[in-house]
Amino acid sequence: MRLKDKVAIVTGSSMGIGEAIAKRFAKEGATVAINYFKSPDAADAVVAAIEAEGGKAKAYKADVSKVAEIERFAKEVIDDFGGVDILVNNAGVFRTVSVLETTEEIWDEQLDLNLRGYFFFVKTLVPHWRQTGGGKVINISSIAGTGAFPNCPAYCAAKGGVVNVTRALAAELGKENINVNSIAPGNVATPLNAHVRGPGNEEYVKLMETFTPTGIAFLKPEDMTGTAVFLASQDSNLIHGETIIVDGGWSVW
Ligand code: NAD
Repeated sequence: MRLKDKVAIVTGSSMGIGEAIAKRFAKEGATVAINYFKSPDAADAVVAAIEAEGGKAKAYKADVSKVAEIERFAKEVIDDFGGVDILVNNAGVFRTVSVLETTEEIWDEQLDLNLRGYFFFVKTLVPHWRQTGGGKVINISSIAGTGAFPNCPAYCAAKGGVVNVTRALAAELGKENINVNSIAPGNVATPLNAHVRGPGNEEYVKLMETFTPTGIAFLKPEDMTGTAVFLASQDSNLIHGETIIVDGGWSVW
């Protein structure tokens, strides 16, 4: 077990990549705070699945695009478990809209959750980690942040921002034994992108298959969990500000 006796917060962990990371962390011995916004039943199901395997987890409702809710959520977890060792900033929203369709509301929604919330969650935990002696942050970026796609400018801006705020946080916090790193997933089959995988998207799926060396158009959420465990474990203690791309090779060309 690589995360024995650690406490981890995984934002947006009632489904998708967050769910897979939370379940894997629990298997590695961590107590996991499962976060949901709108799906209490899904969050309870994740907690039940972890407990059924002998792990420890608790569900917390919080809109992690709002600083006040982040602060309340972090305090609840610290009160419940005595501290937090690992933060996975994972909650995200992805809208496929063209430049001209991007309203202020759509821009703000994506930047507030996918970037602003990530920064403020780290900021919230820094005073705690100054007392405990350190912590681990894993920000979930995207290949839409290390590269770019059409029809999602706000998402690309947010995820590109995650890559560089990861570096900026690492530059400032590295000396305090706080590791801030990022994972940039490629296409992963989750509820987030069901609308670009379904009927009518055959051409896109074929394109992704053709241009991915492994021939995999959509990875599985579980494919992200090994890298997350590595970045949460002592094995990554001297890695700071990195973004590890996990995309089945899509980015090599
Ligand atoms: P998903 O839609 O399956 O899960 C997103 C989670 O975020 C859900 O649990 C949802 O409830 C939660 N969430 C949404 N708004 C929230 C809010 N305001 N407060 C708290 N939680 C909220 O998506 P996913 O594919 O698992 O995405 C997880 C992360 O991975 C996101 O940051 C996403 O941008 C990133 N990502 C996904 C892919 C992909 O192909 N699926 C690729 C690259 C990056």
